[in-house]
Amino acid sequence: MKSAAFDYAKPQVLSEALALLTEAGEDAQLIAGGQTLLATLNLRLSEPSMLIDITNLDELKGIAVIGEQLRIGALVTHTEIEDSKLIAQHAPLLKAAAPHIAHRAIRNLGTWGGSLAYGDPAAEWPACSLTLNATMLIAGPDGERRISAEDFFIDLYTTSLEPNEILVATEIPIANHNQVFYFHELARRHGDYAVAGVAMVAQKQGSILSNCVFTFFSVGATPMMALKAQALVDGKPLTDEVIASAVAAAREELEVIADITNSVETKQHLIGVLLERGLKHLIV
Ligand SMILES: Cc1cc2nc3c(=O)[nH]c(=O)nc-3n(C[C@H](O)[C@H](O)[C@H](O)COP(=O)(O)OP(=O)(O)OC[C@H]3O[C@@H](n4cnc5c(N)ncnc54)[C@H](O)[C@@H]3O)c2cc1C
Repeated sequence: MKSAAFDYAKPQVLSEALALLTEAGEDAQLIAGGQTLLATLNLRLSEPSMLIDITNLDELKGIAVIGEQLRIGALVTHTEIEDSKLIAQHAPLLKAAAPHIAHRAIRNLGTWGGSLAYGDPAAEWPACSLTLNATMLIAGPDGERRISAEDFFIDLYTTSLEPNEILVATEIPIANHNQVFYFHELARRHGDYAVAGVAMVAQKQGSILSNCVFTFFSVGATPMMALKAQALVDGKPLTDEVIASAVAAAREELEVIADITNSVETKQHLIGVLLERGLKHLIV
């Protein structure tokens, strides 16, 4: 199938893109890497009257350390994240997660911002941004606003972005020396979307983890933090009993949704498997 006809614009600066977006109204759609959007156009799942190509907007490019924050522009590709020394040093969770996204050809085009804006609950970047306490920088007709990742992901493929807004960048607190990370996903084949996945971060001192964040993805409508499991682990020596209680809590507390091939029970089982592996990895 081919997409329906649409108008096309390629603005050179952010203000021009915002003006076009407001002028064209809700029928207009932004296009970044096109790795999700082009498929939905060709399948006629979406038929925008205008495509606004944002790939020339310098305001959305680049990875930089600004004070204690790592700024990742919305147009940064998955490959740039995978290969960046700044990412490896200041957000190693992202480096660990990047190779799990599709295949290199798709990672060369797909963008950080496109993935966050699309809000796919099976995607890696929404889960990582939540785990790393990211802040989204969003431009709209009334200026810029900032929102935490926790408030950004609202429901299945639904974020707090308004139709006339553009995600410009994300800020992530840079990692400190005592922080430990774990990323893992269970997929049928490498590059497939995960059946279930986890992104974890904690402060480590001996056998004690604190400030824990355990985010599961591809198990519900949005990426979800296992708050009870986190609290059970936080500040205690990580014994087998503590791990078992955290696993039981995570399986119970998350609002799990089945997908076409995997039941709620399967996903709950995998949540426990991932958490146990992650905790054992973090404490080594
Ligand atoms: C075969 C295949 C396998 C894939 N596997 C995975 C996978 O395992 N994991 C994974 O996470 N992804 C996967 N993807 C998706 C891929 O990562 C996409 O690149 C990503 O989801 C969207 O980024 P994009 O830049 O291509 O966005 P686009 O397709 O250009 O846009 C996606 C949506 O986001 C909006 N948008 C884009 N940028 C912005 C912005 N800055 N502000 C506001 N709205 C914006 C667009 O309007 C559109 O609605 C796969 C894709 C393919 C084709």
